[in-house]
Amino acid sequence: LSLVREAGYKLEADEGLAVDRDHIWHPYAGTILTPRVEKVVGAEGVKLKLADGRELIDGTSAWWCAPFGYKPKALVDAVQRQAAELPHVMFGGLTHDPAIGLAKRLTEILPAALQRIFFADSGSVAVEAAMKLAIQYQMASGRPDRTGFVTIEGGYHGDTWNAMSVCDPVAGMHGAFGGALPQRHFVPAPKSVFGGDWDPADIEPLRAFLEAHDDVAAFILEPILQGASAMRFYHPQFLAEAAKLCREHDVLLILDEIATGFGRTGRDFACQWADVTPDVMTIGKALTGGMVTLSAVAVQNRVADRVSAHPPFAFMHGPTFMANPIACAAACAAMDLYRSDDWPAKARALGERLEKGLAHLRGRPGIRDVRVLGAVAVVETEVPGKIPVLQLRFVKEGVWVRPIGRLWYLMPPFVMTEAETEALLKGFLTVLERHLEENPVDGTTGETN
Ligand code: PMP
Repeated sequence: LSLVREAGYKLEADEGLAVDRDHIWHPYAGTILTPRVEKVVGAEGVKLKLADGRELIDGTSAWWCAPFGYKPKALVDAVQRQAAELPHVMFGGLTHDPAIGLAKRLTEILPAALQRIFFADSGSVAVEAAMKLAIQYQMASGRPDRTGFVTIEGGYHGDTWNAMSVCDPVAGMHGAFGGALPQRHFVPAPKSVFGGDWDPADIEPLRAFLEAHDDVAAFILEPILQGASAMRFYHPQFLAEAAKLCREHDVLLILDEIATGFGRTGRDFACQWADVTPDVMTIGKALTGGMVTLSAVAVQNRVADRVSAHPPFAFMHGPTFMANPIACAAACAAMDLYRSDDWPAKARALGERLEKGLAHLRGRPGIRDVRVLGAVAVVETEVPGKIPVLQLRFVKEGVWVRPIGRLWYLMPPFVMTEAETEALLKGFLTVLERHLEENPVDGTTGETN
């Protein structure tokens, strides 16, 4: 109640919110201590419109997926047109122009060697498909024992079974499933950070593991930017060295670009910072400009053809809503929009504005780190924040931001104007300053008082 009072809310003024509280299950939430949710009735550009008329500047791009802001006209038109023409049809034995058009655009935008596209319906499912593909690849190569996966600590790849198994076991939100998940091997994430010096020792755990084990199907990781679990940016040399090791051992390299793809790190794809092309890449999120759900697995022909040349002569995966025409039409329009401008440059420019607004926090007691890459900025605090409290405060300040524990992150739409960025930073810093004030830290020990 004090929280509600703090934010000046009327208790459940909206009947819909009561239904939501009683019947809806929100992500990473319970049904007893139901967290406060805001009702969104519209969105325009970088702003969300709430039921009570207030507007929030979105600092999250709807979890990475709306880099062009909400409702770009060309994307809305594409969805409406496609819904009227052919909203859905099964993809087994049938094809359609939205899928064909999207495959053509993607093979032009993606790193050149990725020429075969398998469509799926969410990021997690793309990860599942990529991992299944790696197993089939090794089987087709006469190595049926190669069913293991290696990844790095601090990763996040989604909430389905295999995807969870390669998420960071501690920070990855899936501790509740513990020993039930398939066991994967985690090598330490590189200590060398993006923009810092490269320490060759960082690659040694992976080298040692691959030399000692011949049961590994694939190495899977997020390139350069580790998202949801860690919000860390690592040195491109790690990726370059890892790609070399994978080639030497014929272990597939799966790069998960679901969050980083399409300009977010300041390059089209984060793997380009390391000049690495993976055997398999997963993409999603911004693929449709955040309009509707769609993901894809992009595969090198060498891999796809080997899988297809051996029993069962097919890749054994086929979601019902595979290549949904509305989603593909949205993605075609999003890719046209993506190609019409230098979005990675816009992401970098936005990142520079975020850097300028946050740099003063570095070295302050209570602040562990401030880091920016492309259009992603992270402030790491000594004391973790409590989401329900912070959410109310952010909303009161007119911004939409959702820290994860110690990680206060901003990944705004690339279309955010300077004035909107200033307003976002102002709201962000107001709440952060109050958190620092309420949670004083002894600057010399890093311990909380
Ligand atoms: N991989 C990465 C790197 C992600 O950031 C996410 C989602 N945050 C996923 C996979 C899972 O995607 P989805 O939530 O669409 O299943």
